[in-house]
Amino acid sequence: MKLTIIGFWGGYPKQNSASSGYLLAHEDFQLLVDCGSGVLSKLQNILKPEDLDAVILSHYHPDHIADIGVLQHARLIQGFLGKNVPTLPIYGHQFNRKEFAKLTYKKITKGLKYDPNQVLSVGPFQISFLKTDHPVPCYAMRIEGGGKVLVYTADTSFKEEFISFSHGADVLLCECSLYGHQNGKSVGHMNSFDAGRLARSAACGQLILTHLPHYGNIADLKTEASRKFTGIIKLADEFLSISL
Ligand SMILES: [Zn+2]
Repeated sequence: MKLTIIGFWGGYPKQNSASSGYLLAHEDFQLLVDCGSGVLSKLQNILKPEDLDAVILSHYHPDHIADIGVLQHARLIQGFLGKNVPTLPIYGHQFNRKEFAKLTYKKITKGLKYDPNQVLSVGPFQISFLKTDHPVPCYAMRIEGGGKVLVYTADTSFKEEFISFSHGADVLLCECSLYGHQNGKSVGHMNSFDAGRLARSAACGQLILTHLPHYGNIADLKTEASRKFTGIIKLADEFLSISL
């Protein structure tokens, strides 16, 4: 499978950038994981919105879902223009019924609930879930495809269950909202040491730091994480692409 980072800023998009959005492609299937602010604009450098096959959402904070509405408009308009645009499945949890209801729009998109206790099949991907430690219900995803594993932590503070959940992942796409001296427990986010410790404890192949802060020198996050994890560490970047 191939991972392409569309947006990676935490909370809101930086100037001319996007917040959370990750494109996973395998066997010609295009899955968008989270769809934050700026993602629809940036995605079009890689893929037409009408060519997406499915979307899956970790939770309903705006920096992860803000562009769902405009994605729906894009597919509606392309349909008006005569393109054959099938109904797009958008997978989300059902623990916020008001937000879940917005995932269904005419025949353009259909909200489908995932049961976090079950493995979900989406195209060629098998996805399992872990409830994260965040102010609203949020789910991390372990995504398997073609014999490879990507773990996306979504938004969370560190919790021990992440170690077994992430075990042996080829890529750990780990939120890193905070610098090492900051404690994320009360705000539901991880710092650079948490991310490095998780990658080491779970014996991950490589660590990608994402959901990055708007302040400080983000290169320091990588330096700090490397004190805990000696494998490959990358800072998320726009259109960074990783084959696994
Ligand atoms: Zn969040």
